[in-house]
Amino acid sequence: MYPTSLKAWDRLGYSRDIINLRAPPDVYPVFQILDLLKEIDAPWLVPAIMYLGCSNPIQRILDGVALGGPPELTPEKRVILIACPEQALGVESVLRFLKQRFPGCRAPEKCNTELLQLSVFIAENWSACRFPLEIWEESDWEVVAGDLCAECIGQCRKMHAKGRQEFWDRMPSIFGLNCKWYELEKLKKAALKP
Ligand SMILES: [Zn+2]
Repeated sequence: MYPTSLKAWDRLGYSRDIINLRAPPDVYPVFQILDLLKEIDAPWLVPAIMYLGCSNPIQRILDGVALGGPPELTPEKRVILIACPEQALGVESVLRFLKQRFPGCRAPEKCNTELLQLSVFIAENWSACRFPLEIWEESDWEVVAGDLCAECIGQCRKMHAKGRQEFWDRMPSIFGLNCKWYELEKLKKAALKP
């Protein structure tokens, strides 16, 4: 629980929930949750929980904001509203391997076509998604295994893993915290010490 590393996050396996965000509840009270995290003074929970919040469709976030009357727009809440589009941009950067063509490629024509088709497919089906950590999953590599050469798969995997890690590392700052994950980890350890 309470992941402060990408590895720990992946172990929790949120991807199904995030990809199936149409399931109930149909509002996400992102501001109320933020207030609560402030009240219990748990900044290490902010990036991962706000990431989950911002993965929701924007309508659901706005409906959640309105719960309990008009909220006061504090600087922290402004940060979260700005983080939503920022998180969407993260998808593009995590998927940047689709735009690359690799020098060691063993079947340039085939790989080029496949990478182009994948880009088009994602643009057509997933353009509204804001979950860079889940947009491309481990099982997706198996799906493209026969369509991309081994060299391209290897390079794409590397670039994808790097992009995910970079986004994860930026999360504290995206969600308004002036510290790094390792500092949050220290705060968490200190607070949870029996
Ligand atoms: Zn190739």
